[in-house]
Amino acid sequence: MPETPYWNPHIETLARDRLDALRSRKLRDLLDWTFANAPWQAQRLRDAGIEPGSVRGLEDLPKLPFLERAEWMAAQEEDPPYGPVLARPVEDAIRHHTTSGTSGRRALAVLDGTKDWEWIAEMWCYAFWGFGVRAADTVFFAFGYGTFLGFWGAQYACEKLGALVLPGGNMTTEARVRMLVECDATVVCSTPTYALRMAQEARKLGIDLPGSAVSRLILSGEPAGSIPATKALIEEQWGAKAGDTAGMTELGTIVMFECDHQPGGAHIIEDHYVEEVVDPQTDEPVPYGELGERVVTSFGRGFIPVLRYRTGDLVCKVPADRCGCGRTFDIYDGGIRGRVDDMKVIRGTNVYPRAVEAIVRRVADVEEFQIHLYTADGRRDEVEVLVECPGASGDGDPLLAELGRELAEAHEGLRFAVRRAAPGTLPRFELKAKRLTDEREVWGGTGERKAM
Ligand SMILES: [Zn+2]
Repeated sequence: MPETPYWNPHIETLARDRLDALRSRKLRDLLDWTFANAPWQAQRLRDAGIEPGSVRGLEDLPKLPFLERAEWMAAQEEDPPYGPVLARPVEDAIRHHTTSGTSGRRALAVLDGTKDWEWIAEMWCYAFWGFGVRAADTVFFAFGYGTFLGFWGAQYACEKLGALVLPGGNMTTEARVRMLVECDATVVCSTPTYALRMAQEARKLGIDLPGSAVSRLILSGEPAGSIPATKALIEEQWGAKAGDTAGMTELGTIVMFECDHQPGGAHIIEDHYVEEVVDPQTDEPVPYGELGERVVTSFGRGFIPVLRYRTGDLVCKVPADRCGCGRTFDIYDGGIRGRVDDMKVIRGTNVYPRAVEAIVRRVADVEEFQIHLYTADGRRDEVEVLVECPGASGDGDPLLAELGRELAEAHEGLRFAVRRAAPGTLPRFELKAKRLTDEREVWGGTGERKAM
């Protein structure tokens, strides 16, 4: 039998009407199970007028209330460490994990059992297999193996596929680069930012990554895996193909993956999730091709029912046929486009960190950068971009001036001061890079909420 490009050939190519019939059945089962086992979620449903048996299928999903992170967090704080969200006794769990707890937010803690972990690995298998990883591969994980869920599930997916795992936890960047080259890793898993960091380290050590055995990178943990300029840079510096994935600790695993046709986005694993896209202000659904907020319902997690969870992620859904791989799973064009609360308004112009990165990364010489917002003369908002760029001579360098011009052009003429930072002075990240600091005295723009 010829090898299939799909992990689950039947499901990944199922016609839309049959896929939706399957999802309607799974939704009914999920609600029955929630009413029977998860009193907190069941009460929320009843408060919204939903009773057992009243949801017939996908068409009724919009009647369910949204679950917001703040509500989940408040419930957890009242009843730590997990809050009232569990549908099974703690004794049945086999692992505790948390969100990464970056960007000043407290971490959410979650539990999963044996069956959940099988499912978590299965979701990663869609991605690994779909991007061409096979049993003969050797997979290096540049990952800390701590309480943050991150690539844990991917490690189990490799075991399921029969691939050899090189667990690169608790190691310096130098040790990681040396190990993955010496052990002939063919696949590397990391965040996009850390993939670039390892490439810098390799250059410093005189190690030729494009000449190494690495042929694929599986990226996760940050939106940049689908920013074209960042991805192109990673692919060039590693001499390998880079595939994007995205998930959330709240869901236990990944929700979407890029197939090896690399459509410039990620297929949603639609038999295990329902992904709605809504206008973050009006909550109304937005059509294909329009930017909105992801709202996710998961069929897989056995410890925590997740119904209509508002992710805060900005996405743009397009039909499956945008990709030539034959999957019927719809695509998030450009992966995760950013966060709903990422947008900054500077002198009336919208600035998204992702859009700035998309331009800055076109300059291959830029090793790291930071966006800094501040108030000048006590009244004027300014934006400066600090870049570590060994090729630039100083602030007046034409390369930096050109970068400033390109940034302004993409932002209705807004002035960006591009300044050179001394090598090694900007923060480095292994996980969830934070490249924007806002030190403005007053946040003036519309649509922005200042977190106090
Ligand atoms: Zn595809």
